[in-house]
Amino acid sequence: MIIVVSPEATPEDLDHIIARIEETGRQAHISAGTERTIIGVIGPDAPELQDMFETMPHVESVHRVTKPYKLVSRDFHPSDSVIDVGLGVAVGGRELAVMAGPCSIENEKHIVETAKAVKAAGANILRGGAFKPRSSPYAFRGLGEEALRYLAVASQETGMPVITELMSVRDIEAVCRHAHIIQIGARNMQNFMLLDEVGKVKKPVMLKRALSGQIEEWLLAAEYIMAQGNPHVILCERGIRTFETAYRNTFDINAIPLTRELSHLPVIADPSHGTGKWGLVKPVAMASVAAGADGLMIEVHPSPDHALSDGAQSLTYELFADMMRSVAGIAAAVERSLPGVKAAAAAR
Ligand code: PEP
Ligand code: MN
Repeated sequence: MIIVVSPEATPEDLDHIIARIEETGRQAHISAGTERTIIGVIGPDAPELQDMFETMPHVESVHRVTKPYKLVSRDFHPSDSVIDVGLGVAVGGRELAVMAGPCSIENEKHIVETAKAVKAAGANILRGGAFKPRSSPYAFRGLGEEALRYLAVASQETGMPVITELMSVRDIEAVCRHAHIIQIGARNMQNFMLLDEVGKVKKPVMLKRALSGQIEEWLLAAEYIMAQGNPHVILCERGIRTFETAYRNTFDINAIPLTRELSHLPVIADPSHGTGKWGLVKPVAMASVAAGADGLMIEVHPSPDHALSDGAQSLTYELFADMMRSVAGIAAAVERSLPGVKAAAAAR
């Protein structure tokens, strides 16, 4: 249930409404907008509560939310959420966020050099995997904590915030120590214990859509994180599994405008995993920005044919810079910007 409070309400009036909500055994989540304050009533729905709250002073209107997710819903928070990820970078504002880097971190030189190259091309967040979810237990599964230290060096050398995947609660402290954004991978979208734990920390969390995750399941997974008190959630569409075998996954472009309609959370597009083929990354990145994505996650490798994971979908430095120039053109057409690309052009 959502309570819209009239603009004249004083902080005491607001406290009075909150106290009444808590008396019913429910929780109040406050969303203070520029014009109106909206209170989300979290707990079981009961029609009689609507009448009760409607008669309270300074309550403008009361709406029952029929969607199963509440905190992630745009009903509860009408304006777009902008997530401050640190080092001067935000996700969800007018400026697009571009997270780029290798699928997995292979050694210190590899991540530091890749970081410098993607930054020069206009990326503003560095990605790199330390704990890798691999289909085969015999494949390269990442360098673990050692890679987190290399990622921190790359962040210090370039000034870029970093994102890396957390696969297990066991590693949450180490990942929080080194990363600015915690990535929850597609395979863990419904690992509810892990979602609970990242909901208890203050770090931004990027939640990737599961291989077979429905939009509602994905938004409910985001609700798990927010329900524990962490409002800094970013969604990431990374393709779903369909009958099609011509590419690795089917990038679901519909998911971008739909999640932006249903939720206030920013949404990032990952055309690298969404296609699995480097040749498809640029056009799908451009389409994603045109469809309203708040940013991109792109795998980049100095020598994709030598990559220890996901080489087939990784862009070289040159291809990444070329993609960024094309994306900047689309961004301008949809009133978004990629300031790093202008800066990169000026530096040449
Ligand atoms: C990744 O980002 O390298 C990754 C493993 O992504 P996903 O969870 O989307 O497969
Ligand atoms: Mn990958």
